[in-house]
Amino acid sequence: MPFNAAQNLSFLIRHLVRRNPAALARARGLVERERRPWEALQAEQAARLRLTLQTARQRLPRYADIPPLPEGADVFAWLRQHYPVVSKPELVAQRAAFYPNQGRRRAWWPLGKTSGSSGAPLEIFRSVQSVIWEEAFQLQFWHWAGHRNGQAQAILRGDQVMDIQIQRPPYWVWDRFGRQLLVSTRHLSAGTAGSMLDAIGAAGARQLRAYPSSAHELAKAAERLAHPLRLTAVVTGSEPVYPAQREQIERSLGCKVFDFYGMAERVAFAGQCEHGSYHLNPEYSYVEILDEQGAATDDFGYVVGTTLHNHVMPLIRYRIADRARWVAGDCACGRRYPRIELSSGKVEDQLYDREGTPISAGIITFAVKYLANIKKTQVAQTGPGQWELRVVPDVHYTQADEQALREHFDHYVSLKVDAKIRLMDDIPLQASGKFKWITQEWAGAKTLAASAP
Ligand SMILES: [Zn+2]
Repeated sequence: MPFNAAQNLSFLIRHLVRRNPAALARARGLVERERRPWEALQAEQAARLRLTLQTARQRLPRYADIPPLPEGADVFAWLRQHYPVVSKPELVAQRAAFYPNQGRRRAWWPLGKTSGSSGAPLEIFRSVQSVIWEEAFQLQFWHWAGHRNGQAQAILRGDQVMDIQIQRPPYWVWDRFGRQLLVSTRHLSAGTAGSMLDAIGAAGARQLRAYPSSAHELAKAAERLAHPLRLTAVVTGSEPVYPAQREQIERSLGCKVFDFYGMAERVAFAGQCEHGSYHLNPEYSYVEILDEQGAATDDFGYVVGTTLHNHVMPLIRYRIADRARWVAGDCACGRRYPRIELSSGKVEDQLYDREGTPISAGIITFAVKYLANIKKTQVAQTGPGQWELRVVPDVHYTQADEQALREHFDHYVSLKVDAKIRLMDDIPLQASGKFKWITQEWAGAKTLAASAP
C-alpha cells in the first residue's frame, strides 16, 4: 500500500476508534455536568470508585484479599483504610500481583506506555472503553478552549508525520477524517517555521495543539516574520509551560494558552479554564494529595490517583513523582471541579542540535519510549551538537538494545546531533534530590539561549 493510502487508512481507523459517536456523546455529557453542585459530582465519583474497587478485587491478585466494601460505607474512607499507596517500582517488581492475566496482555487490550523519563518505562493494559473515555475528556477540555466539533485544528506534537530524512516541504499531512493538520515537530526550525505557519493558516485551523516548547518556537518565528496567522487557542501539554513561553505564544498568535496536566498512567487530568485555573476532573479519576508519610496535606504533596474507567487494569492510589497542592475557593468560570496548583518540579533543560535549533523534550522521549531492558536513562548535551544518551542497563541488556536505541534516536529525534551512548551503573540525582531526565551541561548553551531570535 502506498504511504499516503496507508496513512489515510490509519487516520480513518483512529477516527472510528476514538472520536466516534460514543466519545462525542460522552463529551457532551461531561460538559453538561461540569457546573453541577459539588455534592452531585462527588456522588457520581463515589459510584465509579466503588465499581473500580470491585474490579480490582476480582482481576488483580494484589487486591483479592481485601474485604468487599460494606453496604452504605463511605467509599473514600474505605479506600484510605484498606488500599496502600503504590508507585511505579512496585508495579514493575510485582507484575503478577498488579496486572491482570498474570501480566500477559490480551490482544484486544490497547497498550499504554510511560516514557521512562522518571526511571524505568512502565506498561499499562487499557480497556477499549477507557480509550474512548480518554478521547471524551480531551474533547471536553478543547470545548473549554473554544473548540467545537468539526472545526479544523493543527497539531505540533509527537505524531510521526513523515520520515525525518525528508528535507523539503510539505512538512505536514492533512487528516481529513479528524480535520486536523499534523505538522512534523521534528522538522520545525527557524528555516521551516514560515511554511508551517502558512500551512496552518491555509488549513483554516483555529486551534493549535502543541508541546509548549514547539508552540514557543513557532510563535517566535511568527513574530520575526510578522506572520498574520491568528488562532482562537493554543492547547499545550506533556511538558511544563514556562511563563515566558506562554507570554510569547499568546502575544504572537493572538490567543490564550490552555494548558493541561496528565500522564501516561492516566491517574489525574487537570485542564486550564478560561480564567487560567487548573481544574482537576473528578469524572476522570479520584485524586489525593499526600505528604511523604502518606497523609493528606493542604501543602504541596505527591499526586496520588485512582483510575475510574479502566476496568482491564485499574490503578489504585497510584503515586506519581509530580507535586501539587489544592487551591481553595470557587473559580469565576462556575465549574465546580476542584482546583490545583502544580509545582514546577519537572524542570527539564533545553537541548539544541548542531544548528542551534532547540529540540522539544516531548520529542526526546521518543528515543526511549519503546525500548526494553533499560532501568534508567538520561539525555545530556555536553558540547555544540553533542549529546550523551546515558543508560543504566538491566541484566538482559544486549548489543541489540543499544542498536535499537541508536535507531530510535535517528528515526524519531534528530539527525543533526552527534549522540553517544554511555552505559552507567547509576545516574545520580541533582543536589535538590530531584532526577533530571534532560540535562544541559554545555556552557555554550547559555549564549545560544540568549541570542535566540
Ligand atoms: Zn475555572
